[in-house]
Amino acid sequence: MTRIVVIGAGISGLATAYAIEYLAGHAGLEVETQVLEKLDRTGGKIHSIKDQGYICEWGPNGFLDNKPMTLELCDRLDIAGQLLRSDDNARKRFIYSEKMLHRLPENGPSFLKSPLISWSGKLRLASEMLIPKRRDGVDETLADFGRRRLGAEALNKLIAPMVSGIFAGDPETMSLKSCFPKIHSLEQEYGGLIKAMLRLAKKKRAEVKEGKVVASAAGPGGILTSFNEGIQELSDGTAKALAGELRTEAGVAKIEKKEGGYLLLLEDGSQLDAELVVGAAPAYAAANMLNELDNAAAELLHGIPYATMNVVCFGYQQDKIARDLNGFGYLNAKAEGCNTLGTLWDSSIFPNRAPEGHVLLRSMMGGGTNPGAIDLSEDEVKARTMADLKQIMGIEAEPDFVRIFRHRKAIPQYVVGHSQRLQQLDERMAQYPGLFLTGNAFGGVGLNDCVNSSNLVAEKVIELLKAR
Ligand SMILES: Cc1cc2nc3c(=O)[nH]c(=O)nc-3n(C[C@H](O)[C@H](O)[C@H](O)COP(=O)(O)OP(=O)(O)OC[C@H]3O[C@@H](n4cnc5c(N)ncnc54)[C@H](O)[C@@H]3O)c2cc1C
Repeated sequence: MTRIVVIGAGISGLATAYAIEYLAGHAGLEVETQVLEKLDRTGGKIHSIKDQGYICEWGPNGFLDNKPMTLELCDRLDIAGQLLRSDDNARKRFIYSEKMLHRLPENGPSFLKSPLISWSGKLRLASEMLIPKRRDGVDETLADFGRRRLGAEALNKLIAPMVSGIFAGDPETMSLKSCFPKIHSLEQEYGGLIKAMLRLAKKKRAEVKEGKVVASAAGPGGILTSFNEGIQELSDGTAKALAGELRTEAGVAKIEKKEGGYLLLLEDGSQLDAELVVGAAPAYAAANMLNELDNAAAELLHGIPYATMNVVCFGYQQDKIARDLNGFGYLNAKAEGCNTLGTLWDSSIFPNRAPEGHVLLRSMMGGGTNPGAIDLSEDEVKARTMADLKQIMGIEAEPDFVRIFRHRKAIPQYVVGHSQRLQQLDERMAQYPGLFLTGNAFGGVGLNDCVNSSNLVAEKVIELLKAR
């Protein structure tokens, strides 16, 4: 029986412990897992808060169904039957630019018709085909990549809102290679994004013709998927399925090496032995645990910055809102100088998020471009959000329901140099067999990415056990 401790009960830690138990079971290996969580609840960033008939998501509100990992996890957990797919109307996403909400074009013809990008901006975008690929291997910022290939207008109106929507990040500091590795490799492989799109579309048409794949009506972004009671059903379901012990209020202060494994010193002064350890806490927390064991690894982890974020939930009686809320919500273009990054129309995406006759809007404020927002008073956050909603959606009414969630360390920022940092970290960690790190600071921040990284680290654990 091998004792394996997983540190952190966010989705990364929970999915890792579950995958280790699952894979060990299939390989006939005997393991005893234990998950240690600092807080008095599991889920980490996942937390679905029910209040006055509203379901407010503290962090993520779902995952996309265009990647298989989280769906597969739900199947294994036997909770796939409870999945809730976002309303069809949620396909309509908007960008606020030049004092108007513009529907984000979903295909070539709608892009040509859309006034979101000017004709000169569209011509600049089309000229992307003529721009040679970058060959110097530089870790380029998203902003430099955007300006170089697509033009300043596309950067401000398309790329910057997308980066704030996913990472709450500043495109001037974020790394293309680390944030969007697929886009980086499309440029490298096909010489450009339009060339890649044309070649891939041709390949897909040929495959459909040969019957190798089925033509799909789903957009490339996938469909946002959650559960009736909120995304917390995912973390709760994973926690419930664990065979091993899950301890809350059990923060780990320090990891020490010892004969045959590791010694964990807990914040309450107690100690625990483990043959194998997987750290799935945020990078800054893992850094504190490793400070004495390997100062260089700790420094590398400490160097991963996190964006701040205020999540502002406003509930209204439906008849107080004149504008139709038919869609997903909107992100603000860079030049608009708004207080918020954008607003999700949560009760349009999943109608049961607000009581009958009411709507729930969830605005994001802060991020890499506005870090100071985290220190604003409740009144100021509310006033600034209301000002944006008035300007963008014409909402004059006071919200009937207000909840503000603060994330001082919301999302890790994959800034330029991130991939090199991770490579150096891997080299340091290679000195500690049986000690692994996972979580959203490494292999992507989306829930699908976290589950994928958990599966990969669990496979490494099993490989090590088999080799022993
Ligand atoms: C506001 C917001 C909205 C988001 N929206 C989406 C979305 O819609 N879709 C999507 O796919 N992704 C979204 N994300 C990203 C996604 O939610 C996160 O990347 C993911 O949940 C992170 O999971 P994790 O387990 O890696 O980290 P965390 O959830 O941060 O979990 C880490 C855990 O480690 C614990 N811990 C910390 N220190 C210690 C210690 N010393 N000892 C023991 N435990 C410790 C923490 O308490 C925590 O429970 C969003 C994120 C935020 C902040």
